[in-house]
Amino acid sequence: MPTEVVHMTNVLRYYGENPELVEKYRQIEKNGKCPFCPDGIIDNEFQIVGKTPDWTLVVSQFPYKGAEVHLFILPKRHVISSTDLMFFEWADWPEILEIAVNKYPLLKKGFGLAMREKTLGGVTLHHLHFHLIVPKANSEGGAEIPVNFGIG
Ligand SMILES: [Zn+2]
Repeated sequence: MPTEVVHMTNVLRYYGENPELVEKYRQIEKNGKCPFCPDGIIDNEFQIVGKTPDWTLVVSQFPYKGAEVHLFILPKRHVISSTDLMFFEWADWPEILEIAVNKYPLLKKGFGLAMREKTLGGVTLHHLHFHLIVPKANSEGGAEIPVNFGIG
């Protein structure tokens, strides 16, 4: 069982005004089971878009405001830092991206890809995950709300 699952300080910082979501994280913390691990809730509660030997692509249960598409790319191993990924896992990366683009052709118009890790990176769940986001388009074809990964 992973020792680091939820970062509650960051959960309260981001979602403190959403009691339902905070409670969901508290339950995860209480049972100590990582939701992004293959034996976690991922297979039951997330819509799985695709898998490779080393990665899983799922739909975010709580898409960011302004996101038309919000997916997570997750390593199958409970890895908390990108520096812990093995070369064979990175080698699998183009395949999971190809699955994403094939299932969501909107990605061909552009997307944002973000990853945070550890406390300073601002994680809520320690299991490494990449956010793959396509914003809703405005009437001119630009982003209604631009994907912004700034600090703050
Ligand atoms: Zn995990």
